[in-house]
This record gives sequence, structure tokens and C-alpha cells, in this order.
Amino acid sequence: MTTLPHLINGQRKTVDGKTVRTNINPATGTPINETPLDATDAVDQAVAAATEAFPAWSQTPVGDRVQFLFRYKTLLEEHVDELAALVVEEHGKTTAEGIGSVRRGIDCIEHACGAPVLMQGRTLPQIAVSSTFCRTEDEGGIGIDSAVDRVPLGVCAGITPFNFPVMVPMWMWPMAVATGNTFVLKPSEKDPVSALRTTELAMEAGLPPGVLNLVHGGHEVVNHLLAHDDVAAISFVGSTRAGEHIYRTAAAHGKRVQCMCGAKNHSIIMPDANRGAAVDGIVGSAFGNTGQRCLAGSVVVLVGETADWFVPELVKQAKAITVGAGDTPGVNMGPMQDVESCDRVMSYIDIGLQDGADLLLDGREANMPSEGCFVGPTIFDNVTPSMRIAAEEIFGPVLSVMRADTLDDAIAMVNESEYGNMAVLFTDSGHAARRFETTVQAGMLGINVGVPAPMAAFPFAGWKRSFFGDLHTNGEDGFRFFTKSRVTVRRWI
Ligand code: NAD
Repeated sequence: MTTLPHLINGQRKTVDGKTVRTNINPATGTPINETPLDATDAVDQAVAAATEAFPAWSQTPVGDRVQFLFRYKTLLEEHVDELAALVVEEHGKTTAEGIGSVRRGIDCIEHACGAPVLMQGRTLPQIAVSSTFCRTEDEGGIGIDSAVDRVPLGVCAGITPFNFPVMVPMWMWPMAVATGNTFVLKPSEKDPVSALRTTELAMEAGLPPGVLNLVHGGHEVVNHLLAHDDVAAISFVGSTRAGEHIYRTAAAHGKRVQCMCGAKNHSIIMPDANRGAAVDGIVGSAFGNTGQRCLAGSVVVLVGETADWFVPELVKQAKAITVGAGDTPGVNMGPMQDVESCDRVMSYIDIGLQDGADLLLDGREANMPSEGCFVGPTIFDNVTPSMRIAAEEIFGPVLSVMRADTLDDAIAMVNESEYGNMAVLFTDSGHAARRFETTVQAGMLGINVGVPAPMAAFPFAGWKRSFFGDLHTNGEDGFRFFTKSRVTVRRWI
């Protein structure tokens, strides 16, 4: 079994700790590699390499820095199928989902290429006049100019989840290095090969050694990074439980932090909604990526008589989903990523039954392979907001159906959630849409869109316990997160 190497200073490097995690192909259960979990020495080496690379990289003109990203984008385009196949093997996505996730990563590279414009500061000439020292400038006094520049922070680190192993690291390091920082990535210990490969491709594209480093590990390695004196900022994506710990710990060590966290996303369907679009949107949102998505719509709230036409069609379409290995033609839902995730989903099906919800479709009885981490689409009806399946993030293909008399009642149900990542409304009414947009508590909204994932030019993050920090990832926020402002006041005498 291969123990995965780190990537430090442009080289594959083996630094073992005491423990490893054995990863499997979740579609077959076959072991594929081992991730070192506690190699804290590797963190020290990676941070040292990034620290050494920082002075030259931060002084490299931004136009030259983004040339590397242009080359990298071209290289990624050539490797889409290879990267997608790695994602399918180690994560379990379908091939189409794997390709889609790599393409969304490339979108971030394109956005980062905008650094020469997006990291610009502002200047205001003649913000004041100094007349106390002398009165030149045609007796009016010497003009004073003021400027704010955006400058890189230093060594930044990224800690990423398992569910988008190519895309999520690209929410971070391309913008960080485009703005002149150097970077240490700690990918999920559960499926780190595709992140390792994309990092190696960055070296092939000509990124200088030390600018981007990758260390494997689990919690101990993360905690070592959080406490490291030479790390200036932490960008995290993962569960709320981990994110809260990471936010507090990194902030206590004086670091800039952003934590994009867990979710329990609600979609509201109005009686006037386009029926086909609504059912398609909810099926895709709840069961796409096997529900392992921070934008998974895992609760649907049906207003008024919507349930009469929505529920039968929902169950029919969910039953038609073919579950199997992600690279098998015709399969449209892959396995859960590992055995523990599969067990967690099964246990939530039991919890839903114990809490009194009606099980309309039981994922344990789906037609699916006997080996591997499979569970089929699951639908509970007559769920109430206080039930655990309505309130807790399950992160699997389990959809809860709730019912409300009015739009305002439905919005109130959505706003009861401790999370606020995304919320969706299907309607034909502009008035209803406006009411929803202005009263629902979530950071990303969809109107007649089941998965309103912002493209990279827009910021990505939620509200409430789905996010800790100030600046979101991507968009202009991404550039602001990886730069600090420096104000200069100038007078030429
Ligand atoms: P996770 O929190 O278990 O792990 C994420 C990362 O944090 C991993 O690299 C892991 O090693 C590290 N980690 C986990 N617990 C830690 C601890 N106690 N101390 C130190 N480090 C720790 O998340 P996951 O299971 O890999 O991913 C799924 C979660 O990510 C879901 O909750 C999902 O909603 C969330 N997610 C959120 C977004 C978003 O944009 N808000 C995007 C993708 C995924």
C-alpha cells in the first residue's frame, strides 16, 4: 500500500508520522492508499519552504505571477479527464460530477487571473492641503495625496474537506498566490490524491518551488498549522464543528481566518412554480453528489396544495435514479465517500423513523451494488422542524419534506435553522420571490435554481453557523482576504 508523499518545496517528500489512515475506493471497498495523519515535521518543513519563497514571490510583478496561472489553466484543461477519474476513484462521484467539479476549479483559476485588476488599491490626489510649512504651489499650499494599496499577508494555509477535493483547494491557493502570498495546503485526509495531483500540475506549469506546498494529515497536523508562528492566515472549508474550533484557535493565535462550514439547506416550492423545473431542481439538489454537498437542498418545504402534485413526481423521479459505481455508464448516483459516512446516513434513517416521519422512499432498499459504501435516495414526508432529520446536517441522500400553509410560514421554518448556507424558492411570482429574498436568512439564494452555487467571480459562503469570519471565499472577498491594506499619505515639499 502506498503511503502518500507530501509536496514540499516543489518535491515529493516522505515524512512519516506514527499513524496513517487507509483510504478505500468507496464504490468497491478496495484499499487504495494511506494518508500520514500526524507528520507535524512536514508542516514545519512546508512552512519553512513557503517562508523562504515569500520575499521573491511577493516581489514578482503581479502580471508575471498570473502568467503562471494562465499556463496552469491550460494544463488543467488537458488533464480534466485524468483529474475527474481520480475524484471518481477516491471520492465516489459519478464521472459527470467529477468533470463538473474540476471545471468549477478551473473557473477559480480564471478568476484569480484577474489579480492585476482585482488587487488594485485606490488613490485620492489632493485629499488635503498643507499650508503650515510653506506656501508654494502658487501660494495655495502643498497638496497631500493619499493611497491605499493591497499587499500580501505572507504564508497562508488552507484546510479542505473531502467532498470537492479538486475544486475547494482552488477557492484558496490560486487567489493567495496571485496576490503574492505563498501557501501550504492541507487537503482532506480521506481523498487527498486529486489535490496532490493538481498541486504537482502547478509545479509543471512553472510555479517556483516553495510557493505552493501540500502536507497531508489529520487533526494534529491542522492544530500544528493553526499554532504556527509563521502562518499568517487560515482558510478553512469543512464541518461546523471543526470550523468553530479552527476559527477560535487560529484567531487566538493572531491569524486572519475564514471558515466556510456545514449546512442544512431548505428549498420552498410555491403552488405556482413551474412543476418540471421544481421537481428536477429538488431531485438534483438533494441527490446530486449523493447529497455530499454544502449546497445540497436537504429539506423541501411545500406551500399550500403544492404537495398534491410535487410529492408523487418527486418519489417517481428519485426511484428512477440509478445507483452504482460512478464510472459505470448510466449511473447517476455514486456511493458515500467512506464506510463511516454510509453508517451515518443509515443511522439518520433510523432516527427519522423513531421521530415519527413517514418514510416514502427507503435508501437502504435501493437497487445497488452489494459491495462498497452505497445507500440510495431516501425521502421522508411530514417532517417537522424539531425532528433531527430536519435540523441536523446528514450529508447524504436523505430529503425531508415539510409542509406549510403560506410562504411566510415556510420562510419562518427555514429561519429556525441554526445554519444559513443557502435557501431556494421555486415560484412564478416576482412578489413572492422578493419577499423571500428580503426575509430569508441565508448567504446564498436560488430563485428557480436548485443549486445556486456562485461562479468564482462572486463570493461563496453562508450565514449563521455555516460561516465564521468576515470575508467570504472567491469573488472580490477572496482578494481582500489574502491581502491587507496599507495606506500612504504623501506630501512632496
Ligand atoms: P471535516 O470538518 O470533517 O474536515 C474538514 C477538514 O478539517 C479536514 O481537512 C480535516 O482534517 C480537518 N478537521 C476536521 N476536524 C478537525 C478537528 N477537530 N481539528 C482539526 N482539524 C479538523 O469536513 P468533511 O467531512 O471533510 O467535509 C464535509 C463538511 O464540509 C460538511 O459539513 C459540509 O457542509 C462542509 N462543506 C462546507 C462548504 C462551504 O462552502 N460552506 C463546502 C464544502 C463542504
